[in-house]
Amino acid sequence: MIILNNQMQKQLQALMPRLTDTHPSYNYLDQLSGKLIAGSIGENSLSYYFHLAPLEGHEIIFGVRLKEDDYFFQIDCLLLTPHVIHLIEVKHIKGELSLNSMEQLLRASSNQTEVFPNPLIQAKTQAYKLKKTLRQLGCADIPIHPYVVFTHPTAILNFPSATVDMIPLQRLPNHIKVINNLYKNNEHYEISKIYNIILERHCPNKENLMLKYNLEIEHIIRGVRCRNCNNFSMERMHQSWKCSICNTLDRHAHLEALKDYAHIFGPAIRNKDAQYFLKVSSPDICYRLLNHIPCSVQGSNKGRIYYLNSLIN
Ligand SMILES: [Zn+2]
Repeated sequence: MIILNNQMQKQLQALMPRLTDTHPSYNYLDQLSGKLIAGSIGENSLSYYFHLAPLEGHEIIFGVRLKEDDYFFQIDCLLLTPHVIHLIEVKHIKGELSLNSMEQLLRASSNQTEVFPNPLIQAKTQAYKLKKTLRQLGCADIPIHPYVVFTHPTAILNFPSATVDMIPLQRLPNHIKVINNLYKNNEHYEISKIYNIILERHCPNKENLMLKYNLEIEHIIRGVRCRNCNNFSMERMHQSWKCSICNTLDRHAHLEALKDYAHIFGPAIRNKDAQYFLKVSSPDICYRLLNHIPCSVQGSNKGRIYYLNSLIN
């Protein structure tokens, strides 16, 4: 099993606590971050149910992002078995869900009805794109079966019984069995080869958030966060950090802040950037902090650049 981490989610998790809530994109980014977190909770809960399914000689890939023509598409989960690829779209949404005659997904609550894109149509589109991509790569023409798994424990699925490919999480082991049976007389494909080809084509989603959402350095809250009270209130003193609010001491508090920096601004940092971001006025202290991190460096003296990749990968 391989989980290809969602870079965008990590970036937003670092950014949101530091973004001033008056920024015009704050609400949009906050919602996007919530959606990505919910998605990853749903994906994680799938792993347990895979253990309950009768699986042999298989591979699992979470979160692969591929390019088709000029566009990217991301697949929540691929279960590669010798006769068929299961393409699983994961929906972690709560509430009473149904389909209307136009096959839109509806969520009803006491005072409103919300509309979502039909996830099965989404999954089928992805299956089509994946098939096309695999063909272009000279991969065997293995069948791909798309379906949707609803992972939220309180979701109520009111779908017609004919909607066999939209299931609650608990039915996943049985659904895997049914689908594998459906394709068992097909050719036997070499899974490891397909697995490697897909992984080689993975394009991590690394966006420049600052550029994309017009974020300026002054929109970002600087400083080192206290792990006890969560305020950006740590002050450097006597080779450690001390919270000015709750007095918590933490020798390594700057590491989380530098990790945030790397996610938001990219891994390259100079001493004066670190001074500004960590709110440390002494270049000597920043020199020591940066030199203790295992990272590659380029240049010397004031122009020296430290690459914080080891903190975020
Ligand atoms: Zn504190």
